[in-house]
Amino acid sequence: MITAVLCVLFLAAAVVSAGIAAVAWRRRREATGFAATAFLNLGLAGWSLVDSIELTVHDVRLFQVTIATSFAFVCVVVVGWLGLSYALADRAWHPTRRFVSLLAIEPALCLAAVATNPWHLLFFAGFRNTGFDGGLVPVYGPLFWAHSAYSYVVLGFAVVRVVRLWAVTSTRYHAAAFAVLISMPSALLNLLGLAQHGRLTDLTALGFVITAPLMYWMVVRASMPAQAPVAHRRVFEKISDAVAVIGRDGRVLDLNPAGESLLRLLAANPPACVVGQTMADLLGPTTVLTPGRSLLPGEDRDLTVENAHGSGLDLDIRVSRLYGRSDRCVGWAIVARDVTDLNRQRRELERQLETIELLRADLAEQALRDHLTGLHNRRHLMAGLARAVAGDGPLSVALIDLDHFKSINDRYGHAAGDTVLTRVASHLAAATRPGDLVARYGGEEFVLVLTGTDALPRLEALRTRVATTPIDLGDGHTVTVTFSAGLTTRTGPETPETLLENADTALYAAKHAGRNRISRTPDDPVPAVRGGSAGAGEGAARSGRPGPGTAASPPGVRRSPTPGGGARSSR
Ligand code: GH3
Ligand code: MG
Ligand code: MG
Repeated sequence: MITAVLCVLFLAAAVVSAGIAAVAWRRRREATGFAATAFLNLGLAGWSLVDSIELTVHDVRLFQVTIATSFAFVCVVVVGWLGLSYALADRAWHPTRRFVSLLAIEPALCLAAVATNPWHLLFFAGFRNTGFDGGLVPVYGPLFWAHSAYSYVVLGFAVVRVVRLWAVTSTRYHAAAFAVLISMPSALLNLLGLAQHGRLTDLTALGFVITAPLMYWMVVRASMPAQAPVAHRRVFEKISDAVAVIGRDGRVLDLNPAGESLLRLLAANPPACVVGQTMADLLGPTTVLTPGRSLLPGEDRDLTVENAHGSGLDLDIRVSRLYGRSDRCVGWAIVARDVTDLNRQRRELERQLETIELLRADLAEQALRDHLTGLHNRRHLMAGLARAVAGDGPLSVALIDLDHFKSINDRYGHAAGDTVLTRVASHLAAATRPGDLVARYGGEEFVLVLTGTDALPRLEALRTRVATTPIDLGDGHTVTVTFSAGLTTRTGPETPETLLENADTALYAAKHAGRNRISRTPDDPVPAVRGGSAGAGEGAARSGRPGPGTAASPPGVRRSPTPGGGARSSR
């Protein structure tokens, strides 16, 4: 009775497996997973069928033949499972020759051992009729155990691979449940048979068949092969990038609509049918898209071509190699993207950034400049002087103040005063050398920071130039102005403030001594010469700078009529 039930179950399992094998085989081109499923289920169908026959065989010799056949199918199942685990991870996976050869070793040895068992009895030690309803069952020998151990290792490896793959797209809990589902039925039934060895018919095939539909579903889920080619084609046709597939001989194998549109812009006379033409035929012999130039077997390349083929288009081109079996380059996929607008926007942005940078620099400079004279302002002076003081070398600071400047304003107006300030500033700027500093200190006061040991003669020359160069006020009047200056030279670690204070003290002395002269700091032994310079220590008391001369007769300002308009008068 049990035998009949088992027979029916094995036959049903065989039918189910054969059905799955047939369906999977028809879809084998969609993904390798289907071929592996077909192979695996073929093994299961054969195994189940032979198991159902075995139940009815009571002749030992015939039983030996059926059991040897069943082991052939067992080996197919083990190898099929492993192949499936690889195919699930990579839908384009193909078993290499090495893979097949290595996996064929154990089945070949196993089948040889089973076939020659009657002579060595190492695979099956014998047969007993202790199965269901007195059916024959084998007593396992050492080679059988070796084969079982090997099969468990291979199947365990395959299950771990599949479950890990599953865990990537699912939760851990699902992966664990899945592991139990796909491995437990066959493992439990197999372990049951092994534990009762020699006393029970092997039901492992039934366990495998229980999980076979689940595995088939897994292949469908993992590869979605039916949709993929359609989706690829659709993407190929709809994508806005131009895509071309080039064969190894440089001929176009496929071109998407965006590629055709681009080609019409690039090629002078594109042919009606592009497929089969070389890139050189289409775009001329100078095109970079030819084998030996950008199309090289050894590497993928990214190119940016500006004004491609004189079309005014900028293109980003990505060339990727296509591989055949045994990793051979069989052609290239070219993806070209029109980046003309992008490049134009980038260039425009770069230009704007440049302008902004120039404006920023200009603003920063303006913040450090005096708007009237264009000289640096006091803020910049203090920073520059601090830097100069931190350095080595001779350093002098001159504080320059125009003599009786107020009277120019009073007499000729404020604008004329501005003109005078501007002209004097030009003289000061012209007198500087690299490393010097010149700044408008405030009002009609300027500061010169002079490097080198010749500060006094340079300042003297400047004083003479200013005093002897008439300034055209632009309203028919010309004036000549003079300045007084206080000069101090660094002798020790003076701060910028100390240097300016010393220069101010010397300036006070110059004013006190009669103006239009240069004075040096009191502790400076070098005497200043009038008209010339005057010594700062010439009795000058620091109780406020001496007041200007009267507006009617400021001694530092001489007035002359317009050029050619009469004699120069001094007041
Ligand atoms: P002293 O010889 O003692 O230096 O006499 P001074 O007249 O030059 O000195 P005072 O300090 O009495 O007058 C300076 C004048 O400079 C007063 C002020 O109106 C004028 N001033 C200051 N800044 C400017 C400016 O930017 N433009 C014009 N036009 N005048 C200015
Ligand atoms: Mg002043
Ligand atoms: Mg003055």
